[in-house]
Amino acid sequence: MKTNIFGLDTEGLAEALKPFKLPAYRTKQIAEWMYQKGAVHFSDMTNLPKKLREELEAAFDINRAKLVEQWDSSDGKTSKYLLEFNDGVAVETVLMRQPYGNSVCISTQAGCAMGCAFCASTVNGVARSLTRGEMLAEVLFIDDLLKKEDKKVDTMVLMGSGEPMMNYDEVMAFLHLMHEPYCKNFSYRNVALSTSGVVPGIYRLMEENLPITLSISLHAPNDTVRDKIMPVNKKWKIAEVVKAGKLYGEKTKRRVTYEYILIENVNDGEEHARELSHLLHGQLANVNLIPINPVTERALFRPSAERIQRFLDILTRQHISATIRKEMGTDIQAACGQLRNQYMKENDA
Ligand code: SF4
Repeated sequence: MKTNIFGLDTEGLAEALKPFKLPAYRTKQIAEWMYQKGAVHFSDMTNLPKKLREELEAAFDINRAKLVEQWDSSDGKTSKYLLEFNDGVAVETVLMRQPYGNSVCISTQAGCAMGCAFCASTVNGVARSLTRGEMLAEVLFIDDLLKKEDKKVDTMVLMGSGEPMMNYDEVMAFLHLMHEPYCKNFSYRNVALSTSGVVPGIYRLMEENLPITLSISLHAPNDTVRDKIMPVNKKWKIAEVVKAGKLYGEKTKRRVTYEYILIENVNDGEEHARELSHLLHGQLANVNLIPINPVTERALFRPSAERIQRFLDILTRQHISATIRKEMGTDIQAACGQLRNQYMKENDA
């Protein structure tokens, strides 16, 4: 059986290539072919000797992801791709064409074990975590598409299915690989990582000392509400989560984003807005209000436009920086996990 080398950094590649006794520069050449020039066969690597290309082809695979299905929003700004890996596991990757550039939203796990009540990704639990190579394959899939339009991936959010902190080592290895000059030379400043509130993960990330934007899915202003919609809160209480977010902002000087999905009669009341203001008072933070994309599996509904506006007004009056997320792709059910579930249902997976 051939070994897959897609996703290895130059150190890992050098190790894999040891039996071939190649000069060191060949490692970098092969990495550049895979990660910058999109080669999926050694035969494409034209600056390698022909015999070597054949030997490498016989020993290794370069496994990327296969497109299974695609959905485009009617405004053409959002496209969602269901990508399948070699073992048949599939994840969703989203391209959002924003005024400030092209943003890709990637999944870090297939499915999710965190159990948030409003999220379709967790309906069937987690199938498995993704490897660094698989996360890279998601980005390169989008990057290849954009190349055809003379564009590239400008920003990246780790907000698809999965809890990145539950796949910490692979996620960090993926981000380091993206940052390498022989890969995408991707700035950490253009990365946002979202967590449901895995507190030890926030502290670990803080110690990395990288300018990654942290986004915390808060979705409630107190433990009573959060316990009901986010099981993770049973382990790490809201005060601990917000404290970790505050320290992260102070240490990295990056504004922390608190995601807050507004759900009718669950967390969208005036008292909730006041409580949230109190909780975040004095923090380098921004609240991103997200009117819920109704999830049919769980009867959760979207508040009226007036209620949403009132919530925002209260935060603003209390000097909490807040915005209502501009909706993208609701007509293609862009909320994480919904398309994958539909696909699994249709294919009886
Ligand atoms: S919101 Fe995020 S952490 Fe929660 S279940 Fe969905 S994918 Fe998992």
